[in-house]
Amino acid sequence: VPNYEIIQMIRDFRASLEYRPLTATDLVRMELDVITIPSKDVVMVHEPKQKVDLTRFLENQTFRFDYAFDDSSTNEMVYRFTARPLVETIFERGMATCFAYGQTGSGKTHTMGGDFSGKNQDCSKGIYALAARDVFLMLKKPNYKKLELQVYATFFEIYSGKVFDLLNRKAKLRVLEDGKQQVQVVGLQEREVRCTEDVLKLIEVGNSCRTSGQTSANAHSSRSHAVFQIILRRKGKMHGKFSLIDLAGNERGADTSSADRQTRLEGAEINKSLLALKECIRALGRNQAHTPFRASKLTQVLRDSFIGENSRTCMIATISPGMASCENTLNTLRYANRVK
Ligand code: ADP
Ligand code: MG
Repeated sequence: VPNYEIIQMIRDFRASLEYRPLTATDLVRMELDVITIPSKDVVMVHEPKQKVDLTRFLENQTFRFDYAFDDSSTNEMVYRFTARPLVETIFERGMATCFAYGQTGSGKTHTMGGDFSGKNQDCSKGIYALAARDVFLMLKKPNYKKLELQVYATFFEIYSGKVFDLLNRKAKLRVLEDGKQQVQVVGLQEREVRCTEDVLKLIEVGNSCRTSGQTSANAHSSRSHAVFQIILRRKGKMHGKFSLIDLAGNERGADTSSADRQTRLEGAEINKSLLALKECIRALGRNQAHTPFRASKLTQVLRDSFIGENSRTCMIATISPGMASCENTLNTLRYANRVK
């Protein structure tokens, strides 16, 4: 049973790490790996679960995070130590943000959106739904109940620097910034939700919208950032907002040399936005005067979530345990280390 008091004491900026079990694809790849490296996987998580060890791949490569989760962890456990402590924030008129960052296939969507494939029945709910569940529970507490808050959800995607509404048949939306640097996504649908089931339905609508017309679900989602937001309103005015973001895959090495111009441009855009995100989080952590929000659509749209007095952010880095993913795993760990 986690001790919530201890969790509360952990600093606002947290970097957590999750790694999933080997999948069938990894096992096929491993057949090849086994020839040279006779180990099941190359990642080790040390007790107490904070340290991630890549020494089976490279010497002296260990990384320390607030938490590290291995393949025995469920989404519920990852949630408890990452996004759960941020739910209070939005009830206290704050802004909360939680990112999933990592290579395609490492478990970002499994962790954030959940797994509706029926393969993993015990942990089909992801952080979107788990956070929503706790928002509805908190609403019943007497001191929050009297505020008469209403809950809304938005779900959109940023693809190649453009914003698309996943709750409105992928309508392309404009992003406007006024003189006071207030950013607005014009026409973004906000749906009122009254229970976790309402939220699950929206996730399903958004997910099917996200992949419709695409040859491969993962090929598309690996190239776009998905943003799911839970918004609390009081008498119509925003009270707090929780943004949960399933980032585009961070593997882009092959893109730069791709013959396809579109692929190269998309790859460059993704690199740019992930770099901008890192720079913004770092700048905020140091109270730097200038934060480069404008450097990408992703950071521009999330601006209001970062700057508030009471804003808290957490990042979940996801990695694949297979030898074949080592290079990307190392990149992911380094990035997560930089934003701590
Ligand atoms: P990403 O969104 O990072 O590309 P996915 O979430 O789609 O990766 O995960 C790739 C595959 O691995 C999916 O089939 C998913 O069900 C499986 N998977 C990911 N994380 C876990 C986990 N923690 N436990 C079991 N299976 C997982
Ligand atoms: Mg995904």
